[in-house]
Amino acid sequence: MRIPGDRPLESWIRDLMEHDRLYAFYQSDDWQELRDAVMLDHNYECEMCAAEGRYGRADTVHHEHEVRREPSMALTRFVTTDDGERREVLHPLCNHHHNVVHKRTYSELRKQRTQSKDERSNLREEIW
Ligand SMILES: [Zn+2]
Repeated sequence: MRIPGDRPLESWIRDLMEHDRLYAFYQSDDWQELRDAVMLDHNYECEMCAAEGRYGRADTVHHEHEVRREPSMALTRFVTTDDGERREVLHPLCNHHHNVVHKRTYSELRKQRTQSKDERSNLREEIW
């Protein structure tokens, strides 16, 4: 199934979320192809296992810009940072590390409510 080309990605995804059908995004050819390309380019290897100096087979491709929060970024693989650096925002991860990333994100979000704005922006850069 192709994602509709006649409307913004964000509005299609918001519709899916309203109807509890976000799985349709993950089943779309557009996402599957992008996901496969990321996996292939990373040799199906978990980025966080690699950072720890060992091999772990990736089970999933993680959206640094979470689909539910930033639907317009659902099919974005690279972003250009303020200093002109091109950075990948889709990350192959094993199930273990995917869970770690999500737990860390949510516990940091809870912490952030009690922290100053400066501390919050420092934390956000570490979340991926
Ligand atoms: Zn891993």
